[in-house]
Amino acid sequence: EEKGMAYIRLLSFLEGEFLANTEQNDALLQSFGRVMATMNKELLQVEIPSLAYKRDIWDLKHFSDIEDRIEHIADPYLQTVVRHYLLQFQLKLEPILKDFRHSIIHGDANDWNVLVRENEVTGMIDFGDLAYSPLICDLAVAIAYLVMHKEEPIHVVCQFLKTYHQVLPLEEKEIDALYYLIAGRLSTTTTMAAYSAQYRSDNAYLSVSEEGAINALLQWIKINPIHAQNSFRKACGIQTKQAVNHEAFWKKRNHYFSKAMSISYKQPIKMESAALQYMYDDKGDTYLDCVNNICHVGHCHPKVVKAGQAQLAVLNTNTRYFYDSLNEYAKMLSAKFPAPLSKVFFVNSGSAATDLAYRLAVAHTNRKDIIVVDHAYHGNTLVGIELSPYKHDGKGGKGTQADIHKTSIPDLYRGKYKYDDNEAGKKYAEEVKDILQKNKEAGKPIAAFFCESILGCGGQVLLPSDYLTHVYKHVREAGGVCVADEVQVGFGRVGSHFWGFELSNVVPDIVIMGKPIGNGHPMAAVITTDEIAKSFENGMEFFSSFGGNPVSCEIGKAVLRVIEEEKLQENALKVGNYLLKELEKFKEEFDLIGDVRGAGLFLGIELVKDRTTLEPDEASATAVINYLKGRKIMLSTDGPYHNVLKFKPPIIFTMENAETLLRELRNVFQKLNK
Ligand code: PMP
Repeated sequence: EEKGMAYIRLLSFLEGEFLANTEQNDALLQSFGRVMATMNKELLQVEIPSLAYKRDIWDLKHFSDIEDRIEHIADPYLQTVVRHYLLQFQLKLEPILKDFRHSIIHGDANDWNVLVRENEVTGMIDFGDLAYSPLICDLAVAIAYLVMHKEEPIHVVCQFLKTYHQVLPLEEKEIDALYYLIAGRLSTTTTMAAYSAQYRSDNAYLSVSEEGAINALLQWIKINPIHAQNSFRKACGIQTKQAVNHEAFWKKRNHYFSKAMSISYKQPIKMESAALQYMYDDKGDTYLDCVNNICHVGHCHPKVVKAGQAQLAVLNTNTRYFYDSLNEYAKMLSAKFPAPLSKVFFVNSGSAATDLAYRLAVAHTNRKDIIVVDHAYHGNTLVGIELSPYKHDGKGGKGTQADIHKTSIPDLYRGKYKYDDNEAGKKYAEEVKDILQKNKEAGKPIAAFFCESILGCGGQVLLPSDYLTHVYKHVREAGGVCVADEVQVGFGRVGSHFWGFELSNVVPDIVIMGKPIGNGHPMAAVITTDEIAKSFENGMEFFSSFGGNPVSCEIGKAVLRVIEEEKLQENALKVGNYLLKELEKFKEEFDLIGDVRGAGLFLGIELVKDRTTLEPDEASATAVINYLKGRKIMLSTDGPYHNVLKFKPPIIFTMENAETLLRELRNVFQKLNK
């Protein structure tokens, strides 16, 4: 009766088939749940004090012990998935696991340790991993093997849990922890197989579950934790977590914020968390993210998060002091640029970077007239809006100020000069030359030409290959400076190059960076030449309270490292080229596609009602976005006629993601192309 007193009979032979070799139907999974619970219920009564001191890397409560072995996983994407789950475990479970119900647990109820006869689980073997651990870890290990090679992993878990809970009721916190613990075991199996392969490449046993674990893990990350937790709760007959009423959320938002604040979709999505290229909402749905070019290397990328966390705990100050990370980051960032771009300024938003670029150009040239491309967006400050026809010519805008001059979008599809015109780039550049000339004659010479390296708000317009060469020549001859806005397209997104301007084979005088630079952390930068930076040294100090602080620098360094380590620029090229090729085929099939364009993972699909008149088809573009939202894919539209589908996902986007997107696009194009 007393805890600690138990007779354990050791059997040397047990009859049955391995679960791994058995077809796993619902009845068998339920049987396993019952047997496992029966065993666990007995073990709860047993004490083996020495087990409390055992430390084993396979024991899930010590999941963190695998951390320095993750680097042995060859596929960088898989490494990041494992690191993601480790970080979630460290944040969400490690601090509280000690308060979970502990027990002697089997520790390795994998499908080669479970015996089956006539569709019933009859016994378990191999108690070599016996541990004193949170009880729920025993289930997590068993389940991790059950979900391998399964089309509907959540259904599988629920069959097992249902009967387990009837025999040995689980607590709410145990059920909620399962999602991360299952991922934990899959991660350990994946990591240990990769780690041990270097020592014992001939030992098939160690990698027996590797493929199953990897595939299950790659599927698992597509499951919203809330969906898993609520499904598990339901299987146990426990109240599910309820999403808050969106009406109430709307009310509060409207109470605290101006309606000027923009929002995506008529029925907005309430996001709870995100992982890499997936976003998880409050209802349990997972969205494939094809719009967020800010979380460039993946939402909540574990290496970036850790870099920020670590530095936040050490020092966060401003550039009025010396600290190593400032110089280190400036060195890494400036190494990405061709000469003579070498002087860096750090700020906190793309808008602030635009503002500073404007000031640098004005200081250097002693002029204040600027040329911008029609429909461009460069920022939300007073200067930003003045430089952004997208805003000042749009709803509520006051039109273009006298010292700002617009040149047409050099659009080879819809513009004045088209794809079939070999001289189009040169001709569009002539327009800039004319503005330069007119302004010179009017005594208001141009200070700078601002241009995104691929036009985002203009409708994902790839510049004619020689456009910037001609424009830069004209601008420089007229004494102006050339500014490239890389806020949307920089940092490897275009695939073939690190910067968008490199597609045009030019070197700007000033470059604006933002969005992807900090993977969501608010930071931005401007880089310029020594000469222009000198002109800015007029006695007025430049200071930004947050720009270039040690936390931002560490995050910026981590982003650059991740792009390189995970070969994300190469990924952008590979996946982007594949999408472009397939979308070109769609164009042959569906008349409503007028043009497909872009580079790397920055693509646009322009929809038209008529291929001869090019009448824009905004309604179809909106219909595509709404259809995709229903299919849990986020995409947006842009361009002067809101008819361009705009694709700019985190660049960790995989070939499989591309297939998913193409499949759904085909479905919706088929519906619309009547
Ligand atoms: N330039 C471009 C091309 C942009 O797309 C944006 C933001 N959409 C900005 C500048 C301004 O950046 P931020 O929102 O960080 O101020």
